[in-house]
Formats: sequence, C-alpha cells, structure tokens
Amino acid sequence: WTEGTIADAENSLTELAALAETAGSQVLEGLIQRRTRPDPATYIGRGKVDDLGAVVLSTGADTVICDGELSPSQLRNLEQRTKVKVVDRTALILDIFAQHAKSKEGKAQVELAQLQYLLPRLRGWGETLSRQTGGSGRGGGAGGGVGVRGPGETKLETDRRRIRHRISRLRREIKNMRTVRVTKRARRTRNSIPAVAIAGYTNAGKSSLLNRLTDAGVLVENALFATLDPTTRKATASDGRIYTLSDTVGFVRHLPHQIVEAFRSTLEEVAEADLVVHVVDGTHPDPEEQVRAVHEVLAEVSADRLPELLVVNKTDAADEDTLLRLKRLWPDAIFVSAYSGRGIEDLRSAIEDRLPQPAVEVRAVLP
Ligand code: GDP
Repeated sequence: WTEGTIADAENSLTELAALAETAGSQVLEGLIQRRTRPDPATYIGRGKVDDLGAVVLSTGADTVICDGELSPSQLRNLEQRTKVKVVDRTALILDIFAQHAKSKEGKAQVELAQLQYLLPRLRGWGETLSRQTGGSGRGGGAGGGVGVRGPGETKLETDRRRIRHRISRLRREIKNMRTVRVTKRARRTRNSIPAVAIAGYTNAGKSSLLNRLTDAGVLVENALFATLDPTTRKATASDGRIYTLSDTVGFVRHLPHQIVEAFRSTLEEVAEADLVVHVVDGTHPDPEEQVRAVHEVLAEVSADRLPELLVVNKTDAADEDTLLRLKRLWPDAIFVSAYSGRGIEDLRSAIEDRLPQPAVEVRAVLP
C-alpha cells in the first residue's frame, strides 16, 4: 500500500522483489491491491486474502512478503489465513542488513533495530498470554528460573524485559563504539587525512569496490589505522598522500525508521566526509530510482551538500544500451567493474582529483 498511483505501487513491488532476491528468496508472483487505506485487520482486505491464499496454494510459496509495515495483529491474521510465513518490508530490510553487517558496530546496530522491531510484536506461544501462576509454568521458557519472576508475572513480560535490557545494553555499546570512532576520526582530521565515504544502494557493490580500491586483507601497521573498523581502510594516492575510504550502510527506499535510528551515528559520519563516492548498480532495472533513494537518505543526515562522485558499477554484466543511456544521463560518472577491475584506475584518479588539497599553513611574521 502506497499513497501514490498503481505505477508507484508497481515500482515499489519491483523493488521489493529485488530486495527479496538480495535476501536469497526466489520470487514467484506479485499481487497488488488497490485500496484507499490499509485494512486494519488484514492490511489487504478480506477478499484479497482469499486471492492471496489461492496464489500461495497454486505456486507452493512458503512465504508472503508484504510491501509495507504490518501491525502485529495484521501479521498474525495474515499468517493464520494463508498458513505460511508472512514478512513485511521492514523485516525483509532488517534481514538484508543483518546479512550485510560486517563490523562489530554494524552488527550491534542491526541487532538493536531488529529488537526494536520485535518488541511490540512479541507474542507468547499460542494466542493467549497465559498467566504463569502456580507451579506449572515456572522454571521453563525464558530461563528465568524458579523464584525469579514475581507472582502472576507472565513469560511474555520476562521476555520483554530481557529484550529491553539487551536494547539498553546495545545502545550503550553503540555509544561507546561511536566515541572511539569519533576520537579516531578527530585524530585523522588533525593529521589532515581526507575521508572518502562510499555510499550507495544495498547490493550496488560498495564493499567489492572498497576491496578493489584498498588491497583488502593488507594489514596496515600504522597507529592511525591499525585498529580501524574493517569498513574504514587506508588508501594511498599516486602522489603518496593518504586518505581513508569507508564503506557505509546500504540504502534502500523508505528505510525503516528502526534502521535510521540505529544507524544514525554511522550515517551521520558520512556527513563528515570530504567526498562521497556514490555507487550505482549498472545492472539494476531502474538505476535512477536508486540514485534518488540514496540522495533522500543523504539529505536526511545533511550529507547532500558534499562533493559527490557518481560511479556506475557492474559494467561487466550491464547491457550496452543501459550503459549508453546512463553515460548520457551522467556524463561525469565513472564506469567500473569491481569484478574485472575495468575503470578502477580511472576511479582512483577521479577520487584523487577531488580530494581536498593539503592546507597550506600561513603565518604572519610580525616585525
Ligand atoms: P554492497 O551491498 O553495496 O556492499 O555490495 P557488495 O559489494 O556486497 O556486492 C553485492 C553483490 O554484487 C555481490 O553479489 C557481488 O558479488 C556483486 N558485485 C559487486 N561488484 C560487481 C561487479 O562489478 N560485477 C558484477 N557482475 N557483480 C558485482
């Protein structure tokens, strides 16, 4: 369900299908429902649930992915009616982020977002929130143990409490990691080391490019870099200047608010960069839409005024017509393939050309 036209809904559904494939699913069929607003009980409405049930049966699908955020009860109702697993857009995106998170901080951020999504959706086994009074329920379930729970307390409450604890712990950890990162960043700024942020839509090939550009796996024995997060690496320009290259979180349209909140500090760091290398997937059916989505997120963290270098990746797999069209559309973009290495040298020099020049120290000498 979107506020726009059927065409908007179709685009959004195409994107959802691509995201589902990114997450490792095989997409069987799409279904669009036109409504003025989502049905409170089933999101898509009674009649459409029957259609959906029929599609599930005929295709043998084991999952339904819904383009939008379902309320906990909508999700439950849909699962009961279709008899298969139901996932909404937010859960799908969280899943992709979980697969892609590589750094310790990134992993903690995804877990935080997942728990925040889970908390209001938590239900006990079975439909009723059976009160665990007396002996029967004690000691089982969440592992609280005998005597830990107060009288009449439900297992669900225990689970919620544990999740809340974990959430506040993750928040603390993320805050600490952020402090460390900010300190390191400040040290690099003092040493006038320019920072380049690699941004782009999820799956555009950001990490592959980062690896290409920085000789991944080479541990740099330098106090300034040795303990860097794996997503920030040191690169050396042809004139010997050094700079950092950072991989950022992947962007998608309508990034769930849990993700934006959890990743805010990482996203905000993009705003501190001297240059944004914006990677676009040349094989994507609608690269312009991806570019718009990335710009939206960049604007949200005030990183939209930074100098930007557009890079079209996967030229090895993209079709020629698309590439020609994109070249006309973005004459200044660099076309590369992280796979074959094509265009990487051009990209390197384009980055170097755009690095800020070292500040010249001027001192007035008083007579
Ligand atoms: P990220 O999510 O933007 O960091 O993207 P990744 O670097 O993880 O790459 C996403 C997917 O695209 C992976 O399956 C890569 O193997 C693939 N990929 C990355 N670069 C290229 C490329 O130049 N050509 C092709 N054909 N595939 C690529």
